[in-house]
Amino acid sequence: MPSYDLNGIAASYEPMLGRIRTSLHVALVYGRGGALLGVATNRVGSRSQGAGFSGMTIHAERAAMKAVGDVTMLRGATLVVVRVGRGGKALSSAPCAECQCAIASAMRKYGLRRVIHS
Ligand SMILES: [Zn+2]
Repeated sequence: MPSYDLNGIAASYEPMLGRIRTSLHVALVYGRGGALLGVATNRVGSRSQGAGFSGMTIHAERAAMKAVGDVTMLRGATLVVVRVGRGGKALSSAPCAECQCAIASAMRKYGLRRVIHS
């Protein structure tokens, strides 16, 4: 079973924090063979991004699974979620209720196998 370097992920996404945010979530989906299939960070949507985005926070977990594009590729995949804090530290990234629900459904329906939260 491969291991994932959560602190290494946090360190590499730290520059995306910018000056305002104190933390951000990054979610990565790895296929059965270990290839990176999709990655996303959470962000606050704006109206310019169209319907469904306005005023809502897009959560990294769901955005990353969407970024994979083809749900059949989630079979056997691993979702890694890291909350990136200042200094590139991996902070606790417990999922919100909606993401927990989306993750449970991806496991049940599409065979997502593992979920790792920092
Ligand atoms: Zn969430």
